[in-house]
Amino acid sequence: MTDQPSGLTVIVIPQPTVNGPLHIGHLSGPFLAADIAARAARLRGERVLTLAGIDVHPNYVLTKAENLGMDVHEMIAKFRAQITGAFELAGIGYDAFLDPQTTAYRSAIARMLSELVTNGTLPMREVTLHQCADCGRTLHHSYVVGKCANCGSGANGLSCEPCGSFTSAQTLVDASCARCGGVPRPMTATVPVLPLENYRDRLIVEWMQAELPGRVRTVLEHYLHFPMPDYPVAYPTNWGIEGIGPLDGLRIDFPTELGLSYLYGPANALRPRAASLAEWVDGWRDIAGVWHFNGIDNAFYFAILYPAILAAAGVPEPKMRGATVNELYLLEGRKFSTSRNHALWADEFLAAEDRELVRLYLSWDRPDRYESNFTNDGYRAFCAYVQPLLDREPTADGLPGALAAAEIDRADRALQLVGFDSALAVRCLLNALTTGAGCDSVAMAALTGRTAGLATVRR
Ligand SMILES: [Zn+2]
Ligand SMILES: [Zn+2]
Repeated sequence: MTDQPSGLTVIVIPQPTVNGPLHIGHLSGPFLAADIAARAARLRGERVLTLAGIDVHPNYVLTKAENLGMDVHEMIAKFRAQITGAFELAGIGYDAFLDPQTTAYRSAIARMLSELVTNGTLPMREVTLHQCADCGRTLHHSYVVGKCANCGSGANGLSCEPCGSFTSAQTLVDASCARCGGVPRPMTATVPVLPLENYRDRLIVEWMQAELPGRVRTVLEHYLHFPMPDYPVAYPTNWGIEGIGPLDGLRIDFPTELGLSYLYGPANALRPRAASLAEWVDGWRDIAGVWHFNGIDNAFYFAILYPAILAAAGVPEPKMRGATVNELYLLEGRKFSTSRNHALWADEFLAAEDRELVRLYLSWDRPDRYESNFTNDGYRAFCAYVQPLLDREPTADGLPGALAAAEIDRADRALQLVGFDSALAVRCLLNALTTGAGCDSVAMAALTGRTAGLATVRR
């Protein structure tokens, strides 16, 4: 699939959860990469629509506020400002911002789900969920911990970081309440489910046509041999968008919300007057495909749940074009940790540093093939080497000038969605810059974020 699609490609920049600011590990993963890929695509004349936003409805947002002793809405406002501030300082652009704090967004999500239940696409089923025997919380997402049934690693009720499997209170081994340690007690609830198994044929077409890294295919291969779950899309709990109509009294599952937001966001950008499921689906007529940037631990969601939601909603053709994934980024050899305050916050770091150098360094060191490691010494050495090159000072013992064009060509091509490799692009660009060439290349503009006019959807 190296030919360029003529239609519009939706590029998804994942929505950061508002339970903390962005750190530079986040930036080095999907955020900068998606922005760079989108800028490069536009410079090549391709039509792209980038989605960004914030994620308010995972229950770890509420957990975080309770742990901090803060009012949850004040906390959300604080972290939201830091996250959007980091986007701005890093030069991360977008065409549509998915904002769960607006009534229009929440109404659209609730309306779409209500229509899908009413028309029978998402059947109401009596299912066994679990609640904590001690504190009574519905055990889902951050409220439950246990061991992954697939690989045995510790996991919460969302997905397993090491193997990417779907996890829930129902599938975790030795599950317990993450909030109080209580034991899970089965409870029966009648909730709408997305029967993923019904979409198997469609999903297999999506997986075959999409450009997916081997690690994502390993997660998917599991589901070639095992049934996919009936996925509860709403349930009784204390956090999330409130359901309407047949879902009155239930809250919408947040990954389901995200999946629906990827339907709504592009449709709303292209057809702002659309107000029903059929009209939002119709807004997808001109969209050729979707490309996700995300961490490998979210493979179940971007490769199974989100495409299944588009299919269930009635988008007629498979739309998955591919995904660019990353591993974790380390800080001085250890995992970033908010609780241990082992982090470099993106907004603070960018406020004190040169944006172009930060973008170039985090791309040069991107944790795409393995967990790479930010060190302050490395960053300073990079800046000392690269700053003169950006100032167009050719190096006496740099690359022979005759080789510059090949380096620039490779840098530009490494920023295509298929085979995206910003670490390679930076290396090639820097080599070219030692000859004084490359300043006006696609790679230079996209990697540094020098291009303007991002917030324009080319229709
Ligand atoms: Zn509990
Ligand atoms: Zn696992």
